[in-house]
Amino acid sequence: MKNTVPKKVYYALGAVIAFFGIIVYSALDPASNLFPRCPVNMLTGLKCPGCGSQRALHQLLHLNIVKAMEYNALMVFSIPLLAFLLFANFFGDKWPKVYAASRSPMLSRAVLIVILAWTVLRNVFSI
Ligand SMILES: [Zn+2]
Repeated sequence: MKNTVPKKVYYALGAVIAFFGIIVYSALDPASNLFPRCPVNMLTGLKCPGCGSQRALHQLLHLNIVKAMEYNALMVFSIPLLAFLLFANFFGDKWPKVYAASRSPMLSRAVLIVILAWTVLRNVFSI
């Protein structure tokens, strides 16, 4: 069965979710225990690659970049990559080389290696 939902519907839905996410994470501080803790951290005591991302996002929305880096530097550094992937997906029809670069297996492997290295380093050195 062919997917008949236009791409624009997905983009609009993503924009609405992002809009409400920005409002929620701007108004509420995840550091105040309003949000559930990471299940990986609760069960193992280890930090997963995403631990601190909600608190980092809250700090970024308040332009506290240093504090955001303290909570999760990978999340902060990944924003340009996420913007690139979003751009490539959105404008892939007009910029096919950018779209192809965003789907590169090399990029996927590099991201995986960075995430694994970040996970090990933050648990070994408590960063
Ligand atoms: Zn976590």
